Amino acid sequence: MAEKAFGAIELGGTKTFVMIAKDKTNIYSRKIFPTLSPNQTISDITNFFKDETNSLDLELASIGIGSFGPLDLDPESKTFGYITSTPKEGWQFTNLKGKIEESLQIPAAIDTDVNASALGEFRSLLKQDIDSFVYITIGTGIGGGFIINRELVHGLVHPEFGHIRIPHNKRMDPFPGICPYHRDCFEGLASGPALEERWHMTAEMLPKEHMAWELEADYISLALMNLICTVSPQKIILGGGVMHQLHLFKKIYQKTQRYLNNYIKSKYLDEQIRDLIMPPKLKDNSGIFGALHLAIDTNK
Ligand SMILES: [Zn+2]
Repeated sequence: MAEKAFGAIELGGTKTFVMIAKDKTNIYSRKIFPTLSPNQTISDITNFFKDETNSLDLELASIGIGSFGPLDLDPESKTFGYITSTPKEGWQFTNLKGKIEESLQIPAAIDTDVNASALGEFRSLLKQDIDSFVYITIGTGIGGGFIINRELVHGLVHPEFGHIRIPHNKRMDPFPGICPYHRDCFEGLASGPALEERWHMTAEMLPKEHMAWELEADYISLALMNLICTVSPQKIILGGGVMHQLHLFKKIYQKTQRYLNNYIKSKYLDEQIRDLIMPPKLKDNSGIFGALHLAIDTNK
């Protein structure tokens, strides 16, 4: 009899990760391919699972999807599991969950890519007694996945932390911002593409001493101040391509402390700030492992 396994999908704007695993330590197969049109990408995904489960003699119990959004995550809605008003061409109102379930004939659980990453990182902190947790990605876009009382937050739709407003001193930074909806929201000012457009260099090309990083750390710290004051998280993970620049962390610690100005008393905002604000433990695998947890959880 075929052995039971789970499928995981991380659908990103440019790349798609797929994985078949029994749990975090027993991985049978994984693959990365470019995200193309919805039809092409969904058939790449479903073909991978069909071919691999056949050749490895596995049976998928369920599948977990972490996807770029915005997504409709309201189970009562007619478009539940759809990608909705995305700026990504061709992908508007794609029935992602439905098409994958129909093709593979197994149940799928879906959440945003950043919620999946939050879940992946949160579950990797098994030994720590944490019930409020935030994962923020700063890369092509900016997003935040929130876990409160050990559950992912959905609420009205799902949090869109990248689009909060932070103070923008236009005399110091005349760059107008690149968010097509709000111009100079957090994502419009501090995402990877914003850095690139402002400085005419990619994040990887910008030297460590460049003033770009002071400004970047400033925007991130202002966002963290808002986050710490509203959600009071016990752990904040900063991931995504821009945060591969690990030298940013030291600047963020100093500026976050400066902005909070000793108002909130906690050892984690003082000498132990390195234990509060951290890089991801799973590096660039937070999302795919989170998607695996989504799949496993639907079977409980
Ligand atoms: Zn925005």
